Amino acid sequence: MTEKSITALAGVGSRRAEQYARLGVTTVGELLRLYPRTYEDWSKQVTVPTAPAGAPCCVRAKIVGDLQKRPMQKGGMMYGVAASDGVCLFTVTLFNAGYTAARLRAGETFLFFGAVTRTRSGFQMFAPQIKSPAEGGYIRPIYPQTAGLSSHITERHMKAALAEFDKTPQTELVSEEERARLGLCTARFALHNIHFPESGEALKKARERLIFDELYLFELGLLGRRAQLRAVGGKVLTADASAAFEGMLPFALTGAQKRAIADGVRDMQSGKPMSRLVQGDVGSGKTAVAASLMLSAVQSGWQCAFMAPTALLAQQHAQTLRHMLGDSARVVLLIGGLPAAEKRAALAAIADGSADIVVGTHALLSDTVRFSNLGLVITDEQHRFGVQQRTTLAEKGVHPHLLIISATPIPRTLAMFLFGDMDVSVLNERPAGRQPVKTFAVGTALRERVYAYIRKKAAAGQQAYVVCPLVEKSEESDAVDAVSYYKMLKNGALRDIPVALLHGQMSAKEKEAAMAAFAAGDVKVLVATVVIEVGVDVPNATLMVIEDADRFGLSQLHQLRGRVGRGKAASDCVLISDAENEEARRRLATMCSTADGFKIAEEDFEMRGPGDFFGDRQHGALPQMRIARLSRDMETLQRARAAAERVLKNDPHLQKAENAALHAAVEALFENGGDMLSD
Ligand code: ADP
Ligand code: MG
Repeated sequence: MTEKSITALAGVGSRRAEQYARLGVTTVGELLRLYPRTYEDWSKQVTVPTAPAGAPCCVRAKIVGDLQKRPMQKGGMMYGVAASDGVCLFTVTLFNAGYTAARLRAGETFLFFGAVTRTRSGFQMFAPQIKSPAEGGYIRPIYPQTAGLSSHITERHMKAALAEFDKTPQTELVSEEERARLGLCTARFALHNIHFPESGEALKKARERLIFDELYLFELGLLGRRAQLRAVGGKVLTADASAAFEGMLPFALTGAQKRAIADGVRDMQSGKPMSRLVQGDVGSGKTAVAASLMLSAVQSGWQCAFMAPTALLAQQHAQTLRHMLGDSARVVLLIGGLPAAEKRAALAAIADGSADIVVGTHALLSDTVRFSNLGLVITDEQHRFGVQQRTTLAEKGVHPHLLIISATPIPRTLAMFLFGDMDVSVLNERPAGRQPVKTFAVGTALRERVYAYIRKKAAAGQQAYVVCPLVEKSEESDAVDAVSYYKMLKNGALRDIPVALLHGQMSAKEKEAAMAAFAAGDVKVLVATVVIEVGVDVPNATLMVIEDADRFGLSQLHQLRGRVGRGKAASDCVLISDAENEEARRRLATMCSTADGFKIAEEDFEMRGPGDFFGDRQHGALPQMRIARLSRDMETLQRARAAAERVLKNDPHLQKAENAALHAAVEALFENGGDMLSD
């Protein structure tokens, strides 16, 4: 846009520049992208009797009386004057605004903006904003403000910035043909009208175009990255161990698992680096898919890196893989906190190639880790890692194949947005013989019965989880905490049953010990926090009790529930909550009525939007959107995606002269997210 410093604008000196910096604005271009938060419509004027109750509106009126002034009880002056909108008389009341009040001379006409109130003595406007008709009859932008910098001042600067913009030659990022096809206005029209809309209709058009642009650039970035990946050569798989792997399992793979494995094998045989997302609901058997593909990779002479979000999960994956693959692959664990000697041995085995599969956390990304022949990178729960990390790890090998397994069902539309650079396999079948988990929502009054049920399960040789929202008692919250709850159960209702505690603040050793005891069946009840949310796999656990269930998001509840129902026996999930608010009730009801993770994800997405959908984990994975909102603009996203595909079809790397500006804009959007297009 325009990279000139904001101080180039008339009226912006160093003091203003400092204020703008607080809003993240340092250049004229950035000021132009400081879109209004909202608008005041001074263009449509209403009469006082037709004014909407309580809502601000604009009234055009003539002053018909003399200014009255009266001291107020607490000091200061109150002014009142009679005005007429042509059909009705009303009173304009101002407080301490002597200078403004003095302008209100009989016979003159003004625009008043504010709420109209009906009082016993007739209609009133209290402390309205006042403009002369010449100054004010338009849709006014209201900007984000900061101390010392009002919206009115920004409005003045914005006019100067737009004049500057008009003087600078600009390249349209969307061709005329595309604009016609999509019914989009020009960028120039959009920029002028987002700030100073000619009409409500023009504002709508402007927003449409700006939202489109943001999503369009994002999609171009993702698809460009995909094209870039496809442009380089990938190692070609020489062994297909799929059938041999299935023979090693005590169960038959589901059709969906077989399809995902075949997809992966095909990708790795294609001569291009694989970039695939395997999305599956909890318990759909993603680990088996990953293991099968790793076995093929290992038999082709490659090493595999398997990255998990937590040390606990890495440990568990290592164990599962050793168990599944037996002697066919050497699995090495690399996590922070390993004893020095063990760590050295692991690093040596990775470097000399004797480690076939390396399982770890993001410690795998550190520079000290050198692979001898990395061919396949698998990351679990990829959305906890940003684009940047994805790239860093990929750089460790010669364009290794990339497989992401996500246990959080992501709404299809959102997946397309986040993983537009990937192919997707969906595991939408449950392994045979699994019984659906029965889910109940109960109030705290029924706790004793829940404890009795836990005892009954334990007596039958089964196990239970009890999940609490907090680790320890907190001043800020009266939520149930795991530490006191554990003590309470251990010394009370469950005193004759082995109970253990598991939470994120325990040392790795303690966590490991608790998990191991539970997995071995020595511990019957595990009181835990959400650390058990993903991946933990103990098929003998058949009861999940969640305390303060309303404090968890839908997707989180679903993940937690997925910890049970993994074996042959029937399982239950009990959601304990006394919450009465409607949203909480709706969430709990959804949990009780469906077990379909994708349906739950859609609902969660709808209720909370994409930002909250991933919570804090999301950090870094999405570029910041200024005006687009995924929860609302999915349709535009799809059109942007299609348009991006059309452009890249003719110019896959945006290298043609006509696309230079587009290329630069895409790069700018991904400034902090790694190079999306360059090679
Ligand atoms: P996810 O990671 O998708 O939640 P896992 O890969 O952890 O699921 O698998 C869950 C459990 O189901 C594991 O105990 C696994 O061995 C088992 N499993 C996987 N695939 C099948 C299948 N096709 N039939 C029966 N059990 C399976
Ligand atoms: Mg798993």
